[in-house]
Amino acid sequence: MVKTRIGCLEAPRKISIREREIEIDENQVLVKVHKAYICGSELHYYRGKYPTYVSLPIYPGHEGGGTIVEVGSKVSDYSVGDKVIVYSDVLITPSGADPLFSDYVRSPLRCLQRVPEGVDMDTACQAEPLSCAVDAIYKSGVELGDVAVVIGLGYMGQLILQGIKKMGAATAIGVDVVDSKLKLAERRGADLVINAREEDPVERVLEETDGRGADVAIEAVGSGKVVNQAASMLKKGGILGMFGWVTRPVEIDLSQWHTKYLKPRVLKIPSYRDKMPWAEKGFQLVKQGILEVKSLITHEYRLEDLAEAFRKYDTDPNVIKIAIKP
Ligand SMILES: [Zn+2]
Repeated sequence: MVKTRIGCLEAPRKISIREREIEIDENQVLVKVHKAYICGSELHYYRGKYPTYVSLPIYPGHEGGGTIVEVGSKVSDYSVGDKVIVYSDVLITPSGADPLFSDYVRSPLRCLQRVPEGVDMDTACQAEPLSCAVDAIYKSGVELGDVAVVIGLGYMGQLILQGIKKMGAATAIGVDVVDSKLKLAERRGADLVINAREEDPVERVLEETDGRGADVAIEAVGSGKVVNQAASMLKKGGILGMFGWVTRPVEIDLSQWHTKYLKPRVLKIPSYRDKMPWAEKGFQLVKQGILEVKSLITHEYRLEDLAEAFRKYDTDPNVIKIAIKP
């Protein structure tokens, strides 16, 4: 039996820290959390924008890992001291592991991934979001010489933009409304950045492509309006990558999907098991210097300050990703 704190979203914009005692069963391990990161989707829930089938309270925290401190009597594959990534519950794919804004979490073995040799724990704990971004990069359809646009330069958008540039996009364009995020994208190899608050990104992309439109446009915001923007800046037959999670029904301008025979792609990994190989790939790309993740962690808070961390994320547009340390 171990005592642990656990972060709880009680109501929109209301976070509390609860305490509880947990005990592993014979097929589980107990993990002392190293760090967990706040997901963009959790900011949506914090703002009250969660899918209609969800009701509060919920326990967020699905990006992280730590060190095994206890193993169940039937566990032979893992031992105390092993460093692991824990694929904890997310709203749409419950896994069975405890939420990670905690001191300790219980996990069945199926939710664990070993931290590979040479990967530091801060990076390892980003396995879940990293895997989603890497999957999107490979499925984006970007080819050598393309004009490719990413709208929304949060953690995911930044990584996708880095990746598609390295995949061979001749012109990798980043769109956001926050200067610090645009500057970071520029430092990481973007050929052009557009502040959508200062100019119309659709017009600018059309101008840059002599009216033809981009080959690929990826929506990484989670907004119907931005999906429409991405469609409007595409060439005929262009690929519309939908990455952002649009949590509520929105209006989509389907007519241009037809008239421009666009190729829509939902860039999404179906389950936590499918994320593991992509995380592995992501670690390799980080090691090779193809992806850079360190500068994407802009803030760090202690678990007791989880409410303050969410408030910061909600109100400061310069936040890219926040680490929570127990
Ligand atoms: Zn996430």
